[in-house]
Order: sequence, then structure tokens, then C-alpha cells
Amino acid sequence: MLKGLGASEGYGIGRVMLVVEQKLEYVAKEIADIDAELDRFHSAVEQFTANTFEQADAVRKSTGDKEAEILEGHIAIISDPFMKGEIENLIKAHQCAEASVEQICQMFIDMFTATGDELTMQRAADVKDIRDSLLSILLGVQEVKISDAPAGTVLVVKELTPSMTAGIKKDNIVGIITETGSQTSHSAILARAMEIPAVLSAPNALSQLSSGEQIIVDGNTGDVITAPTEEQIAEYTAKRDNFLREKRELELYRGKKTVSASGEEYELCCNIGTPKDAAKAMQADGEGVGLFRTEFLFMDRTSLPTEDEQFEAYKTAAVVLKGKPLIIRTLDIGGDKEIPYLGLEKEENPFMGFRAIRYCLKNRDMFKSQIKAILRASAFGDVRIMFPLITAVEELREGKALVEEAKSDLRSSGIEFNEDIPVGVMTETSASGVIADLLAKESDFFSIGTNDLTGYTMACDRGNSDVGYLYSPFQPAVLRLIKSIIENAVQAGIPVGMCGEAAANPMMIPLLMSFGLTEFSVSAVSVLKVRKNIAKWTKAEADEVAAKVMAMTTEKEITDYLKTVV
Ligand code: PEP
Ligand code: MG
Repeated sequence: MLKGLGASEGYGIGRVMLVVEQKLEYVAKEIADIDAELDRFHSAVEQFTANTFEQADAVRKSTGDKEAEILEGHIAIISDPFMKGEIENLIKAHQCAEASVEQICQMFIDMFTATGDELTMQRAADVKDIRDSLLSILLGVQEVKISDAPAGTVLVVKELTPSMTAGIKKDNIVGIITETGSQTSHSAILARAMEIPAVLSAPNALSQLSSGEQIIVDGNTGDVITAPTEEQIAEYTAKRDNFLREKRELELYRGKKTVSASGEEYELCCNIGTPKDAAKAMQADGEGVGLFRTEFLFMDRTSLPTEDEQFEAYKTAAVVLKGKPLIIRTLDIGGDKEIPYLGLEKEENPFMGFRAIRYCLKNRDMFKSQIKAILRASAFGDVRIMFPLITAVEELREGKALVEEAKSDLRSSGIEFNEDIPVGVMTETSASGVIADLLAKESDFFSIGTNDLTGYTMACDRGNSDVGYLYSPFQPAVLRLIKSIIENAVQAGIPVGMCGEAAANPMMIPLLMSFGLTEFSVSAVSVLKVRKNIAKWTKAEADEVAAKVMAMTTEKEITDYLKTVV
């Protein structure tokens, strides 16, 4: 068995086709006829451009616009006057076209690689792809043809390049294995876009596997099973068929409302961490964003993001959502989320310590700049503010007072924002659950964060395996709090959502429907599954299940029962 990264879900059972790249060897020589060599270079670029347009066209039809744009980007790179000019300069200095192309491409590859930034490093992969294509044309070497792969092929390549992808016939390729690439590499993006199961970064895959051998690719776990037994083939055939059937069934829920079998409507939103995720949420058919975790804007850098930088990020998300709700949670640092440049002191008990709203209220300039950025973005969509880790009404009041201060600053500067921006509470501490009635009177909405609510209520750290058995949202203590938070919100007439992981749990869904939850916020991949699960239940059936569960005594009793009904 080989092990890599599961980068595109699904299961592929097929025969290996090793795609070993042709050697692009040449002898660098001095050339005498500069004009002829320039002509040779220009016609190679022309042929490259024509080939790439053709490939992009094929990819647009088979896969989509975004993927075709990656290839069209190659044309833009080679047409860049600086890059092209530098190659021409070397030719003018009597260097042959092959060596000139290689030298300048290498310069760009080194430059992009040195940044260490994952996205910029992707440009290096693009330039490598361009270099190899240009050299193949100049040397008259036939590029690897994967368009001839027969049905049931598992492609094994060092790296899946965008130009290779163009040759892939989706119906024939059942899996892809590469030796390099990460979750966010082009290989992964392309494989996912083509919906082909893929395992990336499987070490030495090319030397470990041989063409024609039968293997199984598990794009979920990253496992590659070599020499599979009859039983394994049967097991994975069943897994694959289930996976495909479920996928087809889920697609029936795309573009539909989120409604129960008895007609109650719910809002089904996504949790995001970056403005880019907003587009993913929309592609996943989310109905808005129920939780934007802003701490990611503060991480992986050496100083605080400015108000303008934050405004751009929030505005980008708001614009992408086109008027759909966008709940932005203010900075939730501390606990397990560290931001080194803030210089937070090490604490004995960070989860109980100086974190989230507590830290923000003591660092008012930083907090106000975030609130102003959110307010400014509210001119571009249905933006809402949410405070994390609230445990007492004073915290909510202080936070709201700061929102009013920020509004007044913006007003005097003549900057537009939504005067009626809703301000809500993330109910994720046991305290906020117990005083949900008091908070509901002063809050515009609630969103239940079960990830923390479970830990705080059960007084257990889920990372600690000795107490992990207590960490379950199905513990009666947690369920009672969830029910009470929802009922208090309903009583006060404010919307109540859930953005913790439990919102996507099929066993939790009927309980939440029964308690009166109005919004579910889940990861983009779960949207259609949750919509399908909600559609399964009538309100009366959900009430019956909830009544039984709330009369039970132990977590085991509850989960054993719920497993029988979902
Ligand atoms: C939660 O606590 O449930 C939650 C959604 O927030 P986070 O996971 O970011 O702490
Ligand atoms: Mg939390």
C-alpha cells in the first residue's frame, strides 16, 4: 500500500498508466544567425499559444471556465513583454532558443519558489509547464499523450500539470496519483474540478507502481491499495457505488430551499475563514455565511491588519454574497488560536483566560478598527456583527457601546454604513446558555457554537484523550443548554442559528428542528447533505424524537437511540 494525501474525494478502481515525462535534452550552442533563431523562438511561442488555446477550449467544455483560465494564464505569462524580451535578449547574445527559454524560465521559477507563499509558488509550477511545452516544441519531442488512455485508467504522474489535464477524458480516468502537490496545488484543484478521485504526494509512486497493474485509489483517505484482493475490490466497488449514488442524490437538492417534510423553512449557511471561501460557500449552494472566523485575517503575518485591509476582506465577502446574510465574528483569539505578534502572555489555563471578547474589550483601538471595518462593509451587503465567548450581559453591552462609538466616528467622516446592523451573540459558553433569557433581550440574534459549548459545559478538553469520552454534544447537559438557548431566542423573537460542527450532524438535526432553530451554518461540503437531512423530517416526527431524547439519562442511551432513527 502507498499513502498520500486524499485530495479529491471518491474511489477509483483501475489499471495504472505511468506517465513518465520525456527527457527534454539538448546541447546548448552558440548560434550565428540571430534572426533565424528569433524566428524559431517566435514560431514556437505561436504554436504553444495555439495549442494552449485549443487545450483551454477542451477544458472549458469538459471541466469549466475556471480551469480553462489556468491554461489561458499560461498564454498571458509567455506573452509578458518582460519575460519574452529577456529570452529574446539572450538569443540576441547568440544563445540558442532552448537554452534561452530554459535560463529565463528558471529565473522566474527560482524567484516564485523563493517567496515561500503557496499561491506564488503555484506560478512556479505554471512556468515549469510553459518551459517544458516550449522545449518540447523546439526539440520536436512528442509530449506525453494521455488522451489515449483507455477506460478504467489510473494516471500516475510526477505532477499533474494544467496542460496534461487538457488531455484527460473524464470518462476514462478513474483515479489520479501524483508524487508531488498539496491540497491547494493546481493538481488538487483540477482533480476536484474534474471530480476524479486523487491521491497526491504519494512518495515514489512512479517507481513503486507499474503500468497495467490493478490498484485502488481512495481519494478520501489518501490510501493507494496495490495488488488488491477480491474482497478489497468488492468492498471498494460497493463504497464507490454508494459514493456516486449519494452524490447524484445530493445534487437533487442544489438550488432548492431548505425545508422540512412538513414545509417549515430554514436558513442553511456556511462557515468561512477567508473572503475567498465566500465564493466556495456560494458554489456549494449556501444561503449565506453564518460564521466568518476573522482570526485567519490576523494569523500568518507579523503585524495587525489595518482597518482598510480588513474592510477590503469583509467587503469582498459581502459583494460575493450579493445581499445574502454575512455574520462576521469579531476576533476570537486565545485558547487554541495563537497570534504571536500580539504577545499574549502564556497562561496556566488559556481556555479560561484572556481571550476573544475579553481581550478585545481591553484592546479597544484594535477592536474598534475591526468594528469600523465591518460597519464599512455593511454598506455592501447584509452584514451582521457577532461577539464570541460572551459570558455576561456587560460584555455584550460594552461591545455594543463600542459599535455605537464606531458608528459615530464613521458618521462624522461621512462614511456609509448600515445604521441598523444587527449585533448578535455567539452562545458558546455555559454561562451564556444559562443566561440566554437575559442576553436575548439585548441581542439581535444568537448563534450556538457547540464546539466550545460542549467543552465548557462538560469541563473537558477534547484534545485530552483521557477525558475525550465526555466531549459530546449529545450529553444531556449540552442538549439541555442547546434547547434552552433556542427556546429563549424563540421567546424573545430573535433568530437563532448553530455554527458549531454539531449543526451538520444527522443525529442532531431533528432535535434542532424540534427545539426551533432557524438557521444552520455548516462547512461548504456539508450544505447539500444537511438540506437533504432536514427534508427527511416532518416537524411532528422531529418533535417525537426530541421528546424521547430529552427524557433519556445518558449520552450512550441518546446516541444509541438516534442511530436507529437516522
Ligand atoms: C464553536 O465554538 O462552536 C465555533 C463555531 O467556533 P470555533 O470553532 O471557531 O471556536
Ligand atoms: Mg468557539
